[in-house]
Amino acid sequence: MRRATAAGPLQWTRRPHLCQRVQVLLRSGYARYCNKPAAHSQAKPLLTLAIETSCDDTCVAVLEKHGNAARLLFNQKITSDNRKFGGVEPVTAAESHTANVAPLVQAAVRALPRGDWRGISDCPPESDEMLAFRRKPDFISVTRGPGMASSLSVGLTMAKGLAVAWQVPLVAVHHMQAHALTPRMVNALEHTLPQPNPEYPFMSLLVSGGHTQLLLSRSVTSHSILAEAKNIAIGDMLDKCARAILPADVIAQAGDVMYGALLETFAFPPSDPAPSSSIDPSIIKDPYKLTPPLPDTTTTTSSSSSSRDQYEAAAAQQQKHGYIYTAPARRADEIKPYCSPTYGWILTPPLADRREMAYDFSGFGGQVQRIMQQNPAMDVPQRRALARETMRIAFEHLASRIIFALDDLCGAREKAAAAAAATQLELQIQHHQTIQPELEGTQKPNTGPLLVVVETLVVSGGVASNSFLALVLREMLRVRGHGPETLRVVRPPARLCTDNAAMIAWAGMEMYEAGWVSRVDVLPQRKWAMDDAVVVGNNNGDRSSGGGVVVVAGGEGEDEGMKGGILGVSGWESRWAPHIS
Ligand code: AMP
Ligand code: ZN
Repeated sequence: MRRATAAGPLQWTRRPHLCQRVQVLLRSGYARYCNKPAAHSQAKPLLTLAIETSCDDTCVAVLEKHGNAARLLFNQKITSDNRKFGGVEPVTAAESHTANVAPLVQAAVRALPRGDWRGISDCPPESDEMLAFRRKPDFISVTRGPGMASSLSVGLTMAKGLAVAWQVPLVAVHHMQAHALTPRMVNALEHTLPQPNPEYPFMSLLVSGGHTQLLLSRSVTSHSILAEAKNIAIGDMLDKCARAILPADVIAQAGDVMYGALLETFAFPPSDPAPSSSIDPSIIKDPYKLTPPLPDTTTTTSSSSSSRDQYEAAAAQQQKHGYIYTAPARRADEIKPYCSPTYGWILTPPLADRREMAYDFSGFGGQVQRIMQQNPAMDVPQRRALARETMRIAFEHLASRIIFALDDLCGAREKAAAAAAATQLELQIQHHQTIQPELEGTQKPNTGPLLVVVETLVVSGGVASNSFLALVLREMLRVRGHGPETLRVVRPPARLCTDNAAMIAWAGMEMYEAGWVSRVDVLPQRKWAMDDAVVVGNNNGDRSSGGGVVVVAGGEGEDEGMKGGILGVSGWESRWAPHIS
């Protein structure tokens, strides 16, 4: 049993086991230091232990933040083995979380930084005695939702236990918010800038196994969904297509159920050791040559010019490896059905005839699966060609809605600028007609609603680790007038694209610094819309709009009427004015 103190390192009651010098310190002023009340000044680094269990990955991290510099002291994950189900099976995932979360937390505790340990350095650093002098986290971060309730519960319960035992706040965050904020953490980990970057507002394309969302983030708590999946998520669609396209022996060798990742490796295998005798003849005919995935470079950069340099370096790298992807220059080119010149199958891009701000992957995935059903004995070159065209069309569909959104924002800004100029002119005319010297310099034209200028697109979530996606997005945006001079595309390194607890720790940091903590009675949020204009209803899957509020399907009913928005769910408390939220 240990006694928690308001600030400073923990004291353990097992004093007889402490080495002699530690005991001396406890008897003297060190114990008084341990009992000092919390005083979080700007100068003090913030420390959090974070837990993520929304799906099949049990993840734990320890993150320290000082100003805009961060250190990741621990970041580990254990993925449950769902291969025999071909997808994530909730009971298996929950059992895996239950088995693994405590050992991971135990390991994470050993990575907590030392407290004020001067004079006790003769204790072995990994001994239990030294654990007594680790700094306890300032708060515990955890994923509250969205996700599978049974999985979320395991992490949330563990996090509550730690918060209660250590007597520190709990910060229960939104999983997709964490994906969107990841590049800000990467920047802080690189210590390149004094301010978090990208700065708000920025746009995010969040592409994972459970979500496909285009988001506009104005602040840590204010987000608008510009487009989202009507049915299945892109990761889900790629996983299903991969299960159909990949040869049985490739599927059998999979280490997990992230078949989408295998699809990329299968479509663009590493070129190095290919002896000439085994060169796949389709390479010569294929529009894309064999190439390893692009290097895992994080394009979160300190300035737009270095962002451009990275973009050019990435483009040069693609050329070197022989990617030959030509982005459709016009919408009309993008929505044409694709007919394979070699194999004859046809793929029609999703929502080809509509400008609807939505993603539709279920019908498209169905087309791919039907092609495979009709050709079960398809050879490897043809499977590879189908894998490439499936990804290309799906990724161009993602890009199309980003372009619509950017064009709409630009159009709205131009209209507002024109309206503001007209108002200005009118005011000037009025000013000359009627002399009102007292108003001089005080009357401002009405510039209309606040219109955002988006300079950064974040691409995050598991599918964002796909290098071909990065290429398609950059090229399509470039040829449609949103090149790197006006829009920076940033994506975290692959290990931070898929689910991890580091991003939960960072989201917890941003929420905590904004003054928000969670009550310890909060429940998992199976569904949780990030947009505050959304209410979860039960309307059998349709999205309908009424009175400016969008209603999305609530599924089994228990979420019906639930308000969206990061702060829309109950259980938040302000650190500045407790119990007011
Ligand atoms: P997440 O839900 O964020 O953990 O992401 C998992 C999803 O990302 C799964 O559907 C994976 O198949 C998919 N995924 C991971 N890596 C890749 C990749 N390189 N290409 C395509 N999909 C991927
Ligand atoms: Zn995720």
